[in-house]
Order: sequence, then C-alpha cells, then structure tokens
Amino acid sequence: MTSDPLTKTEIERYQRQILIEGIGNEGQAKIKKATVGVVGAGGLGSPVCMYLAAAGVGNLIVVDDQKVEASNLNRQLLHWQEDAEASSLKVDSAANKLTAINPGLKLRRHSERIYSDNISDLLDDADILVDCTDNFETRMIMNDYAIRRNVPLVHGAVESLHGQITTVMASRTPCLKCIFPSLPKRKGPIPVLGPAAGTIGALQAVEVIKLITGLGQPLFGKLLVIDVQDNCYEMISVEKDPHCTACSQDK
Ligand SMILES: [Zn+2]
Repeated sequence: MTSDPLTKTEIERYQRQILIEGIGNEGQAKIKKATVGVVGAGGLGSPVCMYLAAAGVGNLIVVDDQKVEASNLNRQLLHWQEDAEASSLKVDSAANKLTAINPGLKLRRHSERIYSDNISDLLDDADILVDCTDNFETRMIMNDYAIRRNVPLVHGAVESLHGQITTVMASRTPCLKCIFPSLPKRKGPIPVLGPAAGTIGALQAVEVIKLITGLGQPLFGKLLVIDVQDNCYEMISVEKDPHCTACSQDK
C-alpha cells in the first residue's frame, strides 16, 4: 500500500510512536491514510476517538444521534459541563475536542442513528469500524454490514466495572452473532464506572492501530473479558457457528 509521505512536522509530532518497532514512518503513514468509522461518541467512543485523533489517524467518521446530558459526564470525556448545559449534539461536541487535539484530523460527523438502510451511506468509506454503541440492535446492524463489506469490526462493551472486546473479520473469525446469538434485553440506564469504559475504549483504540499497521496480533477469534473490580482479565477463544444466521454460508 502506498501512503502519503509524512511531513517534517508529523515526523516530529508522532516521534514516540514512530520509534515503536512495527510502526516506523511507514506505519505512521498508514495511520495518516486510514479512515476509521466510530459509532457511538460516549463512554467507549470518547477514548477511542481521542486516542485515534492523537495517534494521527487521518480520517475519522463519528456517528451518534444523541445530545450531551449531565449524566454522561462521569465517563464521556469528550463532553464537558458546557456541552451538557448547551445540550450540544455529541458529534459537534466531539468534533470540537478532537480537532483541538489534532488540527490535522479530517472529521466527518453524522448525528443519526444507524439503521440497516442508512449504514452504507454513513460508513461506506471506513476501512475499519469501531462499535462503541450501548445496544445490541445497533451492534448487529454493524455486524451485518461489516460481514457484507468484509471490513474489520472492533467490538467493545462495558457495564458497571466489567466489559469485553473482540475483533470481527468475518472471512476468518466468528461474527458477533456467532458469539452472542441472542440479544440481551435492555433494562434502563446501564451502570458504568468511567475508568472501566476508558480501559475498554483504550484497548479498542490499540486494536485499531494494530489493524492499520499490522503490528502484533489482533483479537481475531478471541474475546477479552475484563473485570476491573477484581482485576480479572480472561482471554476466551470463540468459534464460528457453522449455522450462524449472520455469517454462515448456509444462512
Ligand atoms: Zn456469525
């Protein structure tokens, strides 16, 4: 893959990650060229977008249909008191902070909910999708779309002090439907500790950088389950369901 060469300013700015074995100037140029679609600009989306913007991801698409509320502020670090007072759209609040973190970022925002009939309009040019949503209905729409396009989907979820992360690449891994065949019931506001969401979100951002650069091993076929209450970190191997209604050949 040929990538735009880095400017002198960029080489200086990203020096500490260019020094990482497996990134270098070539990896940084890939990061600059990448387009990442993040759905959900909340507790997971905040660290994902902030770390990706800071890391020099050239193009971010942020999708979220909500407005900032006071009850978001314990964990959604992209949004501040003033945004809650103004009931700002989360995508506008996110865009302000992210372009301040990195003015070189090209950001596209959509204040829309994702449905199966609009997802391709919103995310068609994304190389990688990141699931930072808070509901399984939207996740499964992203899952179907990622399967259709055969692009990686980095899934993260958090509740209280625990959460999970995996990366779906349908041609070689189980999809979200294989792993979660029935959708959990929604049940009012979900309890979340901010740093638990930050932990999962930071790991999702790492996963994206790895997918872009080829660094390390992505969570293909692995579900990393994290419980920060007791500091338990468990890596579970997950299998493709040959009869999966989303990704199997005989669906
Ligand atoms: Zn499947």
